[in-house]
Amino acid sequence: MKVPTFEIASILEDIKTRISAEDKEKLSWCISQLIESSGKTDLTTHIQSGNTYLTEETLSQIEQHSSLPLIRLAISDEEISRKSINRRISLSSSSSLDLEISLPSANFDINDFNINIFELAKEFGEATLLSIYAQKIFAYWNLFISMGFDLQVFLRYCQYIGEGYKPNLYHNVLHAADVMQACHVFMISTNIVELSEMIPLHIAALMLSAMVHDYKHPGVSNSYLYMIGDKLAIRYNDVSILENYHVSKAFQIALKENMNIFSNISKEEYRTLRKLMINAVLGTDMTKHPQHVSNLSKLSQNNDLKGEKELLISLFMHLGDLSNPSRIEKICEEWTLRICEEFFLQGDKERSNNIPVSPLMDRYLVNIAKSQIGFISGVILPFITPLCREIKGLDFLVTNAQANKEVWAGRINEFEEKIVKSKDQSASL
Ligand SMILES: [Zn+2]
Repeated sequence: MKVPTFEIASILEDIKTRISAEDKEKLSWCISQLIESSGKTDLTTHIQSGNTYLTEETLSQIEQHSSLPLIRLAISDEEISRKSINRRISLSSSSSLDLEISLPSANFDINDFNINIFELAKEFGEATLLSIYAQKIFAYWNLFISMGFDLQVFLRYCQYIGEGYKPNLYHNVLHAADVMQACHVFMISTNIVELSEMIPLHIAALMLSAMVHDYKHPGVSNSYLYMIGDKLAIRYNDVSILENYHVSKAFQIALKENMNIFSNISKEEYRTLRKLMINAVLGTDMTKHPQHVSNLSKLSQNNDLKGEKELLISLFMHLGDLSNPSRIEKICEEWTLRICEEFFLQGDKERSNNIPVSPLMDRYLVNIAKSQIGFISGVILPFITPLCREIKGLDFLVTNAQANKEVWAGRINEFEEKIVKSKDQSASL
């Protein structure tokens, strides 16, 4: 397992400011040992990605214990590749580092639902792409001005969140970016903002929720964490374990120095934003899906949407989270194969832990094409069809989902053969 040196060093640096001089010295030694025992590649990555917590002293420790050319490469403006966020690091009069972040220029159209996120990730890097998406979307909605988001603090927060996503096949930083972009397209494709009289705070709540909604996802489901008695299940009393974890962590990060994106809004606005975000992220728990479906009827009975902002934000968040089958075929296929393999990996873990293998997670039984037809017919279409009837401008979701269902129907045999192959492989092991 890769040790998150950056995070550990940051936490220790933070603790250093609150302890006695004697303990401070001991802690400094600990940090130097930590840095010394870490891989230099790891450190280089962390410096490249920016670290507002490493003090001058710690930076010099890194320089002492690491390969100098690598560190120089990491902090040199000229040599940082286009894939990395460009940062200028300069020492201010105090001992803290002043990091200025600027994103690479990116000319793609953030309003295009047919955007190829996988190609963009190759070009810009995954975590950086989340920041680019966020900057474009928040600029589109004028949130830097209306919400008083400081660009540098905002980008630092985005980058930290982006790097905190684990490299799962599906629940990774690209999924966060994808969902946020989907939510953005939904908002610009409909007149929901005008109809419900949303203000920037509501848009910010939706986009931030999407950005953080799977933060630090471990790649296994709530039921798996419950079954193994994971410490997260204990912490959150088995209730929406992951969703509670994601949103709680996201707010904890905003408490860190230089990452408080909420510093320029009033306490009341912060409380409202927090309530909306918690509600939206907790609403991504699939056990809440029937609630979202039944909420659709509220929209049809209630033409006055002004009082339904919280419901709409949560609904759009969930819709964004379920938008893969409504993307164009190529993108839909990539996400599908990724989530199925992540599910299969959980199935493998369940098998080896003598836990019943969850439905859809047994690689020796599940036909991916059939599972998708069932998912689109049984979950997606019954949700988005009435939704698109009530909220105008989203018909492309239904059209694409139906088209993808047809494509999967034509691939049943292909995926049946893959299951047989897997069984043969397991038998020969
Ligand atoms: Zn998600």
